[in-house]
Amino acid sequence: MDLQSSLAALKGLGPKSAEKFQKLGIFTIEDLLLYYPFRYEDFKSKSIFDLLDGEKAVVTGTVVTPANVQYYGFKRNRLSFKVKQGEAVVAVSFFNQPYLQDKIELGSEIAIFGKWDQAKSALTGMKVLAQVQDDMQPVYHVAQGISQAALVKAIKSAIDAGMAAKLSENLPQFLLERYRLMGREAAVLAMHFPKDLSDYQQALRRIKFEELFYFQLHLQLLKAQNKSETNGLAILYDESALNEQIKALPFPLTRAQQSALADILADMQSGSHMNRLLQGDVGSGKTVVASLAMYAAYTAGLQSALMVPTEILAEQHYDSLRQFFPDLSIALLTSGMKTAVRRSALQAIADGSVDMIVGTHALIQEGVDYHRLGLVITDEQHRFGVKQRRQFREKGENPDVLMMTATPIPRTLAITAFGEMDVSLIDELPAGRKPIVTRWVKHEQLEKVLSWMKEQIAAGGQVYVISPLIEESESLDLKNAVDLEHELAAYFGEAARIALMHGRMKTDEKERIMTAFKDRQVDILVSTTVIEVGVNVPNATIIMIMDADRFGLSQLHQLRGRVGRGDKQSYAVLVANPKTDSGKNRMRIMTETLDGFLLAEEDLKMRGSGEIFGTRQSGIPEFKTADLVEDYPILEEARKVAADIVSQPNWQKDPRWHVLLGNLKKSDHFD
Ligand code: ADP
Ligand code: MG
Repeated sequence: MDLQSSLAALKGLGPKSAEKFQKLGIFTIEDLLLYYPFRYEDFKSKSIFDLLDGEKAVVTGTVVTPANVQYYGFKRNRLSFKVKQGEAVVAVSFFNQPYLQDKIELGSEIAIFGKWDQAKSALTGMKVLAQVQDDMQPVYHVAQGISQAALVKAIKSAIDAGMAAKLSENLPQFLLERYRLMGREAAVLAMHFPKDLSDYQQALRRIKFEELFYFQLHLQLLKAQNKSETNGLAILYDESALNEQIKALPFPLTRAQQSALADILADMQSGSHMNRLLQGDVGSGKTVVASLAMYAAYTAGLQSALMVPTEILAEQHYDSLRQFFPDLSIALLTSGMKTAVRRSALQAIADGSVDMIVGTHALIQEGVDYHRLGLVITDEQHRFGVKQRRQFREKGENPDVLMMTATPIPRTLAITAFGEMDVSLIDELPAGRKPIVTRWVKHEQLEKVLSWMKEQIAAGGQVYVISPLIEESESLDLKNAVDLEHELAAYFGEAARIALMHGRMKTDEKERIMTAFKDRQVDILVSTTVIEVGVNVPNATIIMIMDADRFGLSQLHQLRGRVGRGDKQSYAVLVANPKTDSGKNRMRIMTETLDGFLLAEEDLKMRGSGEIFGTRQSGIPEFKTADLVEDYPILEEARKVAADIVSQPNWQKDPRWHVLLGNLKKSDHFD
C-alpha cells in the first residue's frame, strides 16, 4: 500500500465505499489525507454551572452510578446514569441507544455531548465522545453515501497504516526554518485531529503557506517565461486604417477607452508577447476596444478570435462585430451549430478566408485550425480556467492575449493574484448615461413595485426579473424561477408578456427567448443568473432581483449592469428581507454606490475572495485552505520568496529546485 493506492487498500474499506469517496474527488490515499475539514466542532467541556437551558454542549465527569437500560414499548428505551463533575451530580439519559451501555464504566472519566435541561438539572445525551481531551472535532464536506464518521474512520485507518508518514516534505528546509513552519506530516495530522487550538493554528499556517507558495511559484515562472519570450508577434497594423475605423464609430471613444486601446496597441506592435487584463465596469465599453484591437490585427493580415462564456454572448458579439465591420469576413463558432454550418466555418477559418472569429469553448476544441492567428481575446475571463486560456493560446503561433473582465479586481489582489499579467483599466462610463437608480424593498412592498412595473411596461419598458440564487442546487434554482413566472403571470395577466429562461434550457431555446426579448415581443424576462454576463438589451430599463441578499455584491452589480445601457433612466430593485446586519448592510451599500471597485472591496472584506470570483469558474485557483484576502500577508511573503527563487541565476540547474518543480506539477490547481 502506498499513497497512490486506492482507498480500497485500507482496512475497513472495500471497493464499493472507495467508489463513493470519488464523489468528493478522493481517489487515492494521498487525496484522502489531503482532504481537510472545513471547520471544527468545539467540543471543549463546559462546567454545568455555565450551561443555559436547551444548550448543546460537552460535559465531562466521572460516572458515579451504573448505567441502566429501561425498556418501555416497542423498541423504545432509555439508558440512564449519573455523572459527577466537581461537586455537582448530573442525571444523564440516552434514548434508544442501549448499546452505549458497554461504554459507560462505573468510576471512569467520560465526555458526553448532549442537550442541557435546566429545570431537571439533567443532560439528554446525544453522543459519547471517544476521548475526554478530544475537544476539537473535524467537520468535513461530505457527499451522499459518505458520513462524517465514515470519513473520519477512513482517515484514521490511513494514518494507522502509516500513510501520513509517507507524505514527503514539499517545502525547502530554509523556508521551514525561516518561517518556523510545522513539518508536513505533523501538519496534515494536526489538520485532521489537532491536539488543541494552537496545534491547529500552526498546522493551518503551514498548509496555507504551502498552497500560496506553490501558487506564487507558478505565477513567477509564467512571468519569467513571458519576459524571456522574444518570439511574440510584432503586429504591424495599419494606423491610418484603424483611425478611419475609430472615426467611423457612432460615438467618440472615452478618454479611458483611448488609453486602454493605446496600451493594447503598443503591446501588439512590440515583439514581446502581450498578456494583458482589461478591466472595466459593465457597459464601460470594453467590447468596442476589443473590436478595434481585432481590427488592427486584421490590417496586419492576421486573424483574431474572441472567446466568450455563453452562446448568447457569442451571437451578440458576432452581430456587433458585423455591424462595426461590414466589409470583413467574420465567423461564428459554437458547439450548438449544425454540423454542416460548422464544417464550412472550420474550413473558412483554416484557409484564412475568415478575418475574425467569435465563439464559445468550441474555439479551443480539437479540429479547429487557425490561419495566422495573431490575437486572442477572452471576454469575462474569470469564467475560464487557466488551462482553457492556455489551450487557446497554444492554438496559434503564440498569439497576443487580451483578457477582459467586468469583475473589478481590487488592485492589491490583481498584483498578487494575476501577477503575471499587465492590467489596463477603463474607469469611466461613456457620456450621457443616466446613473441606475437602485432601490431596496422588502417582500411586503412587492405589490407596490409590481403596480409601478405595470405602468412602466404599459409605457413600453422592459423588465428583467431574477429568481433567487440557490447555491449548489440547479433544480431548486429552476423551481424558483418557474414559480416566480407563475406568480408574475397571475399578477399581470394580459398586461405583460412573460418569458422564462434558465440554465437547463437548450442553447437555441435560450437564444430564441433572448431574441424575442430584444425584439420587444416579451415584456418581462424571468431568469436565473444565466443572463448575468454581458447581455445587451438597451430598451430593458428595470431589473428586479429576488432575495437579493443571497447574492454577492459583485454579482448584484453585474446583474444590475444589464440595465442602464441606453439613454433612458434605469432602475434596479432589490427585493430582500435580510436577517443579519451584514445582509442589511450589503443591501444598503448597493443602493448607495455604482462603483464596482468599491463593491468588490466590500465583497472581499465581507465574504472573501472565493465569492467575488465565483467558485470554480474563476481563473484564480481555488485554494483548499488559503483565502486571498484574509491570508494576504502570507500571500505577499510567499510571493517574495517565489520571486527570489525564480530570479536566481541558473536556478533551474539546482537540483533542489527540480524537486520544487516536480511538486508544482503535481499540485492540482494549476492545470
Ligand atoms: P462592456 O463590454 O464594457 O460591457 P460595451 O463595449 O458592450 O461595454 O459597451 C456598452 C454599450 O455602450 C454598447 O452599446 C456600446 O456601443 C456603447 N458604447 C461603448 N463605448 C461608447 C462610447 N465611447 N460612447 C458611447 N457609447 C459607447
Ligand atoms: Mg462586454
